[in-house]
Amino acid sequence: MPSTRFVVQLHDATTLHFDLRLQAGEVLRSWAVPKGPSLDPAVRRLAVPVEDHELSAGEFEGVHEGQPRGTGAVIIWDEGLAEITRDEPGHLAFTLYGSKLTGGFALTRTGERRWILVKTREATARPGSDIVAERPASVRTGRTWEEVAAETRPSTRALRSFSGVRSSAWLLAGCGGRQGGGGLQVGG
Ligand code: MN
Repeated sequence: MPSTRFVVQLHDATTLHFDLRLQAGEVLRSWAVPKGPSLDPAVRRLAVPVEDHELSAGEFEGVHEGQPRGTGAVIIWDEGLAEITRDEPGHLAFTLYGSKLTGGFALTRTGERRWILVKTREATARPGSDIVAERPASVRTGRTWEEVAAETRPSTRALRSFSGVRSSAWLLAGCGGRQGGGGLQVGG
């Protein structure tokens, strides 16, 4: 039986990236995944660990104001129940019960601040697929991140092309959850 939850948010910060969060007790363990998850077991996706976030951060869809770069738009790209099946230092295996992501996945640490996210080879795998391109919108509202950005801050909206992975430095700058005075997660 699934005993916990996960959320994947799509976040337009310094660059567009996904935030994978797995609930562990009262916090969300979090990784920034520049290219997002894949259902193709042959695809290895960089996942940069960031600090734990409050549970409320996983409920956020909207625009983070005051973000130095990017529109600050966030959508809840997928969410659902989850089951952690292996949890050891540098390796995590889990089963997701989302709308887009289902079945087994694994996160394996390969460097100082570098993990790799892969889909497990089993019945829910979809070799050759690109779920990020196929299903870009929010599972909660059906909006794309561009629509959220435009609805919230029409005067400053800017459609920017995804520029891919440069280094983990920008991710850490753009994704680190900073505690605002009001308690709202600003980064993440
Ligand atoms: Mn982020």
